[in-house]
Amino acid sequence: MLPTPDDAIDYLLCTTPDPGGWQEVAPGVLWIRLSLPFQLDHINTWALDGGADGWTLIDCGLGDKHTLALWEGLLRGALGGRPVERVVATHFHPDHIGAANWLVERTGAAFATSLTEWLFARMLSAGNDAAADAAVERFYRRCGLAPETLDAVLARRGAYSRGVPAVPATLTRLRAGDRLPVGGRLWTVIGGSGHTAEPVSLFRPAGGDDNGNGPALLISGDQILPRISPNISVWPTEPDADPLADYLASLKDWAALPSDTLVLPSHGRPFRGLHRRADDLALHHAERLAEIESLCASPRTAAEVTQALFPRPLDPHQTVFAVGEAVAHLNHLIRMGPLERVSGGRAGGPDIDLYRRHTAG
Ligand SMILES: [Zn+2]
Repeated sequence: MLPTPDDAIDYLLCTTPDPGGWQEVAPGVLWIRLSLPFQLDHINTWALDGGADGWTLIDCGLGDKHTLALWEGLLRGALGGRPVERVVATHFHPDHIGAANWLVERTGAAFATSLTEWLFARMLSAGNDAAADAAVERFYRRCGLAPETLDAVLARRGAYSRGVPAVPATLTRLRAGDRLPVGGRLWTVIGGSGHTAEPVSLFRPAGGDDNGNGPALLISGDQILPRISPNISVWPTEPDADPLADYLASLKDWAALPSDTLVLPSHGRPFRGLHRRADDLALHHAERLAEIESLCASPRTAAEVTQALFPRPLDPHQTVFAVGEAVAHLNHLIRMGPLERVSGGRAGGPDIDLYRRHTAG
């Protein structure tokens, strides 16, 4: 079906801020850009002007010195030295929650996210115990990674607490359907799942500016992104999870929001075309699933499937996301019926999993 014109992806025409810079994208809504030391080199954060109540900040960047220095400048510059009422994290990933504790301590703001995202952040920031370390090693070994890749991935342990040195000790819990007042305007918490277990998005209907005008706005976190497909991964903490089922279900939920909603994503540029983008992402995963199913006509390890999906050199940071994405699709195919997982066999040794088309009997 051809998209109707108002369903096509349509980027907001405005200048992309430099790292540490900002740009107003709707009345009282600032787009702030922070840098990241990864191939994905930036994150967007959003500052909502709550007038006398102070600012609401959505997402924070990493908790490293560089980001905190940018925030010092932003608190004085973009935010004009006015108070910060609350800091919201859309989910627990370091680029979103890393600087939250510093911001909360520095400004006296409340901290808000969903219960699951907060608990995950608190757990991972505290560091792994020996049993969790062993689970990480077992997971990636079963995926069939080459020994040098496995070593490089295991050397990443502790990366979370480097990006997130501390997580606020108290929480304002957000649940799907909650209304968040910001300067007399209500934002609705939109739930979902897939990129993480319980991410938070925020929606404000059209007509939210001082004159009763302005577009519908969706702060989407990483649940929907304009250019890249949000990472949907299985992690060693829950090796049999099927987050892709959750994500595909969440993609359908965007249909309930207006098609001309201005989407404010965590990476990339603000855009319109929410419904079209959700359809494209669903199609992308359907194609991936078909590709993997046919690949597994011969038994494959997760590492082999990863290489087929991402046939370029990957650094250890990219490897865990790529392997996680491959296992997410494999687990979904197991749950939907076409594939089965068998342990052992082939050169890999007894503790490596193979995925293959289901054989009757
Ligand atoms: Zn994320």
